[in-house]
Formats: sequence, structure tokens, C-alpha cells
Amino acid sequence: MRSELKKANRIVIKIGTSSITYKNGKINFKKIEQLSKILTDLKNSGKEIVLVSSGAIGAGMSKLGLKSKPVELREKQAVAAVGQGLLMQFYEKFFNEYNQTIAQLLLTEDVMTDHIKRRNVENTFFTLLDMGVIPIANENDSVSTDEITGSKIGDNDTLSSMVAILVKADLLIMLSDIDGLYESAPAINPNAKLISYVGRVNEDIYKIAGGADSLIGTGGMYTKIRAAENLMKNGIRTVIASGENINIIYSILEGEEIGTFFGTAETGAEEYVRAIQ
Ligand code: GLU
Repeated sequence: MRSELKKANRIVIKIGTSSITYKNGKINFKKIEQLSKILTDLKNSGKEIVLVSSGAIGAGMSKLGLKSKPVELREKQAVAAVGQGLLMQFYEKFFNEYNQTIAQLLLTEDVMTDHIKRRNVENTFFTLLDMGVIPIANENDSVSTDEITGSKIGDNDTLSSMVAILVKADLLIMLSDIDGLYESAPAINPNAKLISYVGRVNEDIYKIAGGADSLIGTGGMYTKIRAAENLMKNGIRTVIASGENINIIYSILEGEEIGTFFGTAETGAEEYVRAIQ
């Protein structure tokens, strides 16, 4: 089943803040450079690539010297406004080294629900891909609020699944500080096994992920599974893997058994969950 990933042509890669920053909150340029190089290389090999990158708030915090994430909405939005430009500046610098043109797309929830906006943004994505550009999407954190417009997506796991659907991707690779889905929490049970394949998302899978209660702040396993389930319904595959080593993208695309793979109905397998040792 994994071998079908070799054929994935249009790929959305989602990278979490923790994968492009150090524990002290400062930007990890090595990671951003590796990511820029690998995505350009994949693009050169003939694949179409879209990046969904978090890190606006992280970069803003680092620039402003903030030790902890602001709590108030207006502060978060201001910090994201400081950080988004910086984040793109870093990507621009490193992608430019490999002569790869990038573009920024800042999205809100209404883009998916409003027919005309959705058509527009789809056209933008497809035109950029036709132009050989790597689009980089993030939520428009500085303007999207629950309170005012009801237009907040809230986390980039969900955003990346929206983008994968918009661009009709073959595959979404979510890179974060989690290796994939474990049978039980590895922090509590060190012998917990990583689940290699999920053919159907049901209550049990959500239970393994810790349920909605585990949704603290942004991201977490719950939002990843919800995103993968949504994509499964749309015939799009998802791999959840660790962003510790960016080279993992190559191994995933080689079909290696890495992280957790969420297949689709077309995958042809019985609906089951398989654990690896
Ligand atoms: N959009 C947020 C940022 O750029 C991140 C949201 C998330 O990581 O889920 O900081």
C-alpha cells in the first residue's frame, strides 16, 4: 500500500511551529533551509508542491522577545502580524538559494464555505502551480477571529486538509513533533506501538488520539486525525510523521513504513489498523 505513495504527484506538506523552531522559541534556520532545499528538489523532479507552514506566531514571539505565547486575541493577532512577514522572509531567502519561486497565501475559513471565494483561491493555487511556483499557505491569523467574523480555522492541521482538498492533492504529509499515531500515549506507556496504517477512522481511533479534550491550543493528534478522516472521504491520502529530520519526506515518498499512513477507499485494503513493532 505504501508503494502507491511513490506515484503521488501533487503533494501538500504541512510543517508545525515546533519543527521549525528550537525549544527556546528561536527560529531553526537549518530546518527551514533543509525544507526549502528538499521541496525545491521534489519540485525539480516533476512533482507539484504546496507548503502549509505554521510559525507566524512563533517568529513574532522570537522577534518581540516574548517568552510565552500571548493570551489575549488582539495580542496573538499582533504577534502573528509581526511574524508572518518574517516567516516569509526566511522562506524567501532559502528558496531563493535554490532558485525556486514561492508565493504566500493567507486563508480564512470563509474561503472554503463561500462559493466564489473558494473558486477564486482554487484558481490562484492552480495558476501558481502552473507557473512552477511553490505556494506557502498559513491562516490569516491577524484577521481571522471567531468573535468578529466566525472565520477562524484555528489550526494548521485543519487548514492543510482544506488546502489539500482545494488543490486536489494526491497526498498530505503532516510533519510535527509527533512520530505518528500510537496505540496509547507513549509518555504513559513507553512500550506503546506506532500504528502504521489506518484504513478507516472510527471512534476507537479518536479514543486512541485522546479525544477532543486533548485539543489544547492549536494542533495535537485530534485535529490531525480529523484532518486525515476528512481527506480519506475525499480520496486523498495522509501521512503523519515526525519533522525532526526533514529528509523523512523522501523516505515517505519512497513508500517506507514511516509514521502513520491513512489510506483511502481506493487503497483496496480491508479496513483495519495495523501496528508495527
Ligand atoms: N497559524 C499559526 C501560526 O502561524 C499556527 C497554527 C497551527 O500551528 O496550527 O503561528
